[in-house]
Amino acid sequence: MKIYRYRSEGGDAYAATSEKGVVPAGSDLFNLRIDPSAGPLDLERLDLLTPVRPGKIVAVGRNYADHAKELGNEAPPEPIIFLKPPSALLDPEATIVRPPASQRVDFEGELVIVIGKRARNVKAAQWREVVLGFTCGNDVTARDLQKKDGQWTRGKSFDTFCPLGPCIETELDPAALQLSTRVNGQARQHESTALMIFDCAFLVEFVTAVMTLDPGDVIMTGTPAGIGPLQSGDVVEVEIEGIGTLRNRVS
Ligand code: MG
Repeated sequence: MKIYRYRSEGGDAYAATSEKGVVPAGSDLFNLRIDPSAGPLDLERLDLLTPVRPGKIVAVGRNYADHAKELGNEAPPEPIIFLKPPSALLDPEATIVRPPASQRVDFEGELVIVIGKRARNVKAAQWREVVLGFTCGNDVTARDLQKKDGQWTRGKSFDTFCPLGPCIETELDPAALQLSTRVNGQARQHESTALMIFDCAFLVEFVTAVMTLDPGDVIMTGTPAGIGPLQSGDVVEVEIEGIGTLRNRVS
């Protein structure tokens, strides 16, 4: 099932795929109410929002060997995790704002795990039980500030630096999905999630050994090789097989 969040007259609402197409599904992500009598919605005309509003955005650095290499880093012996603030969230089709403080703002297309149940000390074998599904994310990064600061908070945290969407796919095996990032229609990243150094099961165990994850929290699983800068006027798309395409403009 694909779950969308969109702006409706009565505030934000959810929609989900059914035999009839995409239908209204109430206002609670964790207690969806599909109205069997409701007619399908026209997805093209929905004003989509991030499909989830996480309290915590945990991200993983250097989780593909070829990406670690392209920035001159070794593949890490264990996951490097960091946090992005929820204030950085950006809806599908909305605009990434390049801050004046940075001369180089990069895209990073990533598979994103959406947590469905409160999770603490989850073993890798049980990881799927606490996961609602998966979405696409763009871990937008001010690369110059990341390098200058020697840690990543500023470079990863500007408003608009965390586009998520377009939907949450709940029935998906993330082990080997094609992840593609395009800028103005040109392919920049094209890699299988099979090349992640630490897979989703490992990451759920690793992160929940550190912190409790709550429903709606997300784990951004890292980006493959091919990252690069965004310029004003660009359109950046992150597409993951089985989920869809997250598209944003750049100002
Ligand atoms: Mg990243």
